[in-house]
Amino acid sequence: MDKKKNDDTPKKGTPSREKASRKGRPVCSFCGKEIGPYEPAVQAPDGACLCMSCENLAHGYFEDLKKQLQAQNAPEALPLKKPQEIKAFLDDYVIGQDDAKRILSVAVYNHYKRLNYLSLHKDGVDTEIEKSNIVMVGPTGTGKTLLARSIARLLKVPFCIADATVLTEAGYVGEDVETILSRLLQAADYDVQQAERGIVFIDEIDKIARKSSNPSITRDVSGEGVQQALLKLLEGTESLVPPKGGRKHPNADMVTVNTRNILFIVGGSFDGIERQIASRLHLKTVGYRKSEDRPVDLQDDALLQYVSPQDLRAYGLIPELVGRIPVIAHLDNLDRKTLLNILTEPKNALVRQYKQLFAMDGVELEFDPEVYELVVDKALEFKLGARGLRSIMEVVMNDLMYEMPSQDIDRYRVTVDYVRGHLGKGVFDKLKNS
Ligand code: ADP
Repeated sequence: MDKKKNDDTPKKGTPSREKASRKGRPVCSFCGKEIGPYEPAVQAPDGACLCMSCENLAHGYFEDLKKQLQAQNAPEALPLKKPQEIKAFLDDYVIGQDDAKRILSVAVYNHYKRLNYLSLHKDGVDTEIEKSNIVMVGPTGTGKTLLARSIARLLKVPFCIADATVLTEAGYVGEDVETILSRLLQAADYDVQQAERGIVFIDEIDKIARKSSNPSITRDVSGEGVQQALLKLLEGTESLVPPKGGRKHPNADMVTVNTRNILFIVGGSFDGIERQIASRLHLKTVGYRKSEDRPVDLQDDALLQYVSPQDLRAYGLIPELVGRIPVIAHLDNLDRKTLLNILTEPKNALVRQYKQLFAMDGVELEFDPEVYELVVDKALEFKLGARGLRSIMEVVMNDLMYEMPSQDIDRYRVTVDYVRGHLGKGVFDKLKNS
């Protein structure tokens, strides 16, 4: 390289360790340039200095190198977690939902086993193992998102959540399905290979069910059209994705993301699907009650465990889409005991979180056990479910969190009377509408 005296390009050879110029200012140990009084520079403990231009050059060099290495290296095989290990991890974060956890653990294990198998046999495989996309059916606030998020956390793969209700067919107002992939890419820190083995959770999938009442002259842009668009992603396609999110721009650099190995988990409450399940099982439904002529012990909640692909089709998911989501898991309604557990037991239980927050202010926080009972009762009474536990605790704890940091105490006990005083009727009207 042809270098002029004092140019900004780093020179090869032994770096200069001069600590100061003739004017007494530090010099860059890399290019030898004097560093101005207001010029930012990095200084090592031994006095070596790096000026900003050399730092920029080095940064660019490392970025290029990183990209080259990423391009050369096929993704490494993921360390496989066995289904029982996956379930044990989920148990730390998600209370109950044992059936769903077992089904998910096996599906996720198989999915990543398949990925490792494919990366070992790049030249082709004799037995094509199909992808095990998963659908979770269960009432809202029962842990569907939490399960998907926990799995991604365990596997340390990129993860993103999308809401099916905001998706529309390309060209219509709303989000194209490709925006899901740009979110995943973002979660993967723009590493395409990582994104291509990530997990996408699509919530509220039941809200894009085909509605037979749709008039045929208007296009069903938010229902069947979106299902068709999703189908392509689930099947495995090369999708052009705007890297920094947002809508496609003609001049933006597009990134190609192959969705073949992305695990899709979709979830929805599928309100009223019990009626369909019951009719398939030839149970007479009188307000979903068990039929007199077929004395089986089925309550409303218990019906969901029999949910099948057929029921999802009857609900309005197109058969092709249902065919691409072979694994079905159901989630149970959360009863009183489970809600109590959720409040106190998981690793990130709300009570633990508040205790930790207060501990950071040097205050040991305690709760009367009846407080938990009261909070759960209120969540049940106002049908707020697990999601409501947080809203109620926020209302209860807000004043304390406001006052406590300025008080000189090292212990505080939250009593049931204190909580009652904070849970006036107005509070619940607000929570119910939120
Ligand atoms: P869904 O996706 O089914 O609507 P979420 O997973 O978003 O519900 O749950 C909402 C919140 O409720 C979660 O953040 C979590 O704190 C709590 N939660 C719900 N179900 C459970 C559960 N089974 N175990 C622990 N926490 C739960």
